[in-house]
Amino acid sequence: MLPIPLPKLFTYRITEAESQFLKLGMRVAVEFGKSKIYTALVYEIHQIAPTSYEAKDIHQILDETPIVNAIQLQHWKWISEYYMCTLGDVFRAALPSAFLLESETSILKNNAFTAENELSNEEFLIFEALNHNSELNVSQVINILNKKTVFPILKDMLEKKAVVIKERIYEQYKPKLIKYVRLNAQYTSEKLNELLESLSRAKKQREAILTYFQLESSTKKPIKFSDLEVESGTSSAVIKALVEKEIFEEYFIQTDRINYTGETNKLKSLNEYQRVAFNEIKNSFEEKQVTLLHGITSSGKTEIYAELIQEKLKEGKQILYLLPEIALTTQLITRLQNYFGVKVSVFHSKYSMNERVEVWNNVLDNKSKAQIVLGARSSLFLPFSNLGLIIVDEEHETSYKQFDPAPRYHARDAAVVLANIHSAKVLLGSATPSIESYQNAKEGKYGFVELMRRHGNVLLPEIELVDIKEKHRKKRMKGHFSDRLLMLINEALEEKEQVILFQNRRGFSPIIECETCGISPQCPNCDVSLTYHKFKNELRCHYCGFHQAMQYKCGACGSEKLNNKGFGTEQIELEIKELFPDVKVGRMDLDTTRGKYGYQKIIGQFQAQEIDVLVGTQMLSKGLDFSNVSLVGVLNADNMLNFPDFRAHERSFQMLLQVSGRAGRDKKRGKVAIQTYNPYHQILQQVSTNDYSQMFKEQLNDRWQFHYPPFYRMIRITLKHRDFNKVDTGAQWLGKSLTNVFKEHVLGPTTPSVSRVRNEYIRILIIKIPPKQSLKTTKEHILKIKNVFQAVKDFRPIKFIIDVDSY
Ligand code: ADP
Ligand code: ZN
Ligand code: ZN
Repeated sequence: MLPIPLPKLFTYRITEAESQFLKLGMRVAVEFGKSKIYTALVYEIHQIAPTSYEAKDIHQILDETPIVNAIQLQHWKWISEYYMCTLGDVFRAALPSAFLLESETSILKNNAFTAENELSNEEFLIFEALNHNSELNVSQVINILNKKTVFPILKDMLEKKAVVIKERIYEQYKPKLIKYVRLNAQYTSEKLNELLESLSRAKKQREAILTYFQLESSTKKPIKFSDLEVESGTSSAVIKALVEKEIFEEYFIQTDRINYTGETNKLKSLNEYQRVAFNEIKNSFEEKQVTLLHGITSSGKTEIYAELIQEKLKEGKQILYLLPEIALTTQLITRLQNYFGVKVSVFHSKYSMNERVEVWNNVLDNKSKAQIVLGARSSLFLPFSNLGLIIVDEEHETSYKQFDPAPRYHARDAAVVLANIHSAKVLLGSATPSIESYQNAKEGKYGFVELMRRHGNVLLPEIELVDIKEKHRKKRMKGHFSDRLLMLINEALEEKEQVILFQNRRGFSPIIECETCGISPQCPNCDVSLTYHKFKNELRCHYCGFHQAMQYKCGACGSEKLNNKGFGTEQIELEIKELFPDVKVGRMDLDTTRGKYGYQKIIGQFQAQEIDVLVGTQMLSKGLDFSNVSLVGVLNADNMLNFPDFRAHERSFQMLLQVSGRAGRDKKRGKVAIQTYNPYHQILQQVSTNDYSQMFKEQLNDRWQFHYPPFYRMIRITLKHRDFNKVDTGAQWLGKSLTNVFKEHVLGPTTPSVSRVRNEYIRILIIKIPPKQSLKTTKEHILKIKNVFQAVKDFRPIKFIIDVDSY
């Protein structure tokens, strides 16, 4: 198996002795094409000579033992067939790049390496050469050593950490620990006098305690050790003395992730509702391989996961905990490490090469260090041999689907298949399950368990819809804020509570919206809003290709006040700063979190209450647990609802409920204010009453009517080329060929709203697959048509991208 996008395996010649030694899943260096060298994987050892080419000898064997197991190969094969990509695509995605030396790989010197005397002569030569060149690629190394078989040498050097492979390396984030103090729980205000009496002769200690109370009542925030020291005019020794007397306690607020060193704690004992849900899950696992846990925000799903993990650990099984985005989940990592300590490994494609190789090897050797792997979707490719449980947390998240490059797999679905091979169980968890999974549960394909109470019986936040059409009319808006939202913000800030403001700026081309009635023009054939295309001055549907000239009057009410919708978080941040000059405002979106650890810094600051108001995009909806947030404000729910996508309503419901779930998690019931032009929109009504099942019923009905998943499957073909005419002609041809076979189930070719990316013109075709049509035959037809397409000389250079179950 070669890590290249060719749909075949290749046969190479080995000696009798090599055949005794080689095993499936070992790496070998081979030549391919004109003297290019790749790292290949042994897939099969056989005695059938290829007919269309002469088998070449392998260059050399790179492993003593396999680094990939048979289960993985089976899983990869499924991925490549289901998602219509090559095994090579999967292979390349699966292995950490350090395992995949090839001619073009660049090698860098590891400056931390000092043990030069441990290097062989040849290794030293390369190491020396790296003093004069900042980097060398494999071909240059071949020239320096004047021999072809350099992979084993480079591999040794990598293992000795003398060199590294060039790639984007993300350094590890080491947050600074901030020390806080709090009064020991036994000193309630009644006992305060007693306490002060007892310290009558320690004047400075009394001073420190009095200052503590002043600070506590004036700021209502956690009190930093250093602040107390300064404010009380004492010294750190005085406060330390109080800690020693167990009057004060020290603690730290931190958001650390992988460098776990602390001690572990026992699991929290489940509350009665969690206990019931836990037992139901276990019963469900007796019959079903997959179970969906629908548990509202803050119901304590994580505690249930922990309990399940604990059981599987006892059985000696490996556990995979999938998360949509690792960067946003430092809190969760800390929580699990707190329970399971060093057994937790974190795996993410953005971690540095050495970290990834380390986790890979630990999983391969079934080490207890990696018995629990927490990871984003790529951790599905790790060499598990003994999986007992896969948890897919926030299973509704769209980031589980890989867009680019191939394999374009959905990690939730691929996890179900992987678990099947291992005879392992899968738990899908969410407060807002995807329509697909919920339907699978309703149909009995998956088990189903509900948990409808927040831990501590805190009520779900009170959700209020603010009609901004009305507010505009009555001139009660300041910028994008209604008087109502501003009042709620004021109240929260006065109570020293924190506020989250949500503005989703997803999408690119703006939507036209009537300022008077709030309606956006809709496609007559699909259940989506039309998108404004400035360049052509027309309105388009991204799904069926319908288009019409831009309108200058509202089709619903005739008003001429049409707005381009689209304001972002940055503007909201500015407005808040003007309205509340004394308040600390933070912003969390792609722009502010791009740098290293941007997320963790902002999350950490917010957690430490250094930020009062946090403005952000949908990143805020992802499972964060802040105890002091009492208000969540949504600036405009409409642009989300009008997003031109058949999942827009489902996504809006999920996002609004998830972001609402950040309010009032600890003790007090939280508040949510959602600003909208359409307070009677069914989705907003369903959000405000937390009515998932009504949302599900209506959406399912729409999906049925408009032929969308989960009833119809969708395969999207994207064509790309720099030559406009070429891609246009190709798309027309392909459209006709597909229509010949699939009739009315072919949509397009359409031009996406961003019709040219990186100088390539894009055309899209969608094939809808009705419930009874065989997926396998459909794919075979598509591949056949693809082959014919690529046999046409003119079309061959066009990029042909297939996305199965596209989002
Ligand atoms: P979810 O993942 O369902 O949104 P979490 O698991 O984050 O909810 O739980 C919400 C909060 O409640 C967390 O701070 C968690 O520590 C706390 N919590 C949940 N269950 C328990 C329990 N049984 N005992 C103590 N604290 C709990
Ligand atoms: Zn349409
Ligand atoms: Zn109108």
